[in-house]
Amino acid sequence: MPSRRPLVGGNWKMNTSRAEAQDLAGAVITQLEPSILQACDVTLFPPFPWLTAVAEATCSSPIGIGGQDVSDQSQGAFTGQMSAAMLIDAGCSTTLVGHSERRHGLGESNAILNAKLRQAISAGLEVMYCVGETLSERESGQSEDVVAMQVKEGLDGVPAGDLDRISIAYEPVWAIGTGRTAAAEDAQAMHCRIRADLENQYDARSAKGVRIVYGGSVKPSNAESIFAQPDVDGGLIGGASLDAEGFVEIIRAAASMSAS
Ligand code: PEP
Repeated sequence: MPSRRPLVGGNWKMNTSRAEAQDLAGAVITQLEPSILQACDVTLFPPFPWLTAVAEATCSSPIGIGGQDVSDQSQGAFTGQMSAAMLIDAGCSTTLVGHSERRHGLGESNAILNAKLRQAISAGLEVMYCVGETLSERESGQSEDVVAMQVKEGLDGVPAGDLDRISIAYEPVWAIGTGRTAAAEDAQAMHCRIRADLENQYDARSAKGVRIVYGGSVKPSNAESIFAQPDVDGGLIGGASLDAEGFVEIIRAAASMSAS
């Protein structure tokens, strides 16, 4: 992998009780060798109500905490939403924006995701911006155009100077939680295309620095081959992040790429 530091996120989605969340975070910390954490950034994305509990469990480790979503508004009458400032107050350094379960499951548009991303960045959070095509878009040969538009519109108005606080998660929707994974070469091709689009939208230097991680049924058995691709800088892990041992193995696979 070039000079980009590997990054692995664990998206717990709407899983775990409070006690399970604390135990899972504790098990990840216990099992991760310090040398791995020196070579790889790790972020946990617990459910909102457990953020502070997980932040407490991880406070003496370099593992970061992130929100699974963030509001596009800074405060006020927005029932059920979570502002960027609240996430920071709860111990988060980052947030997901545009996960497919919100983009496609809840109909969030590129425009709203752009507003969320900008709100998060201006409040001081980092953002992992998720993009990816559906199965029908893939089958009709639209994958690259769809993802290019998600990147272009999602980052609209974001200056190059803020790109170092943004990572992109390429997550083909048909691979999320399905057990189907993109072939490593297909993931590489899309990551390469995203980087080329970033170069057009910004400049070569900025594009080269952006971390682009892959998500979609990554597990210990396939992590290494996916992470070995030159434009794959780590992973966003859903189901497999709920098992500490498997998640740690995936993190080790990402960390080993920075050494190769
Ligand atoms: C995700 O939720 O971002 C994800 C990639 O899920 P899974 O690993 O379960 O496919």
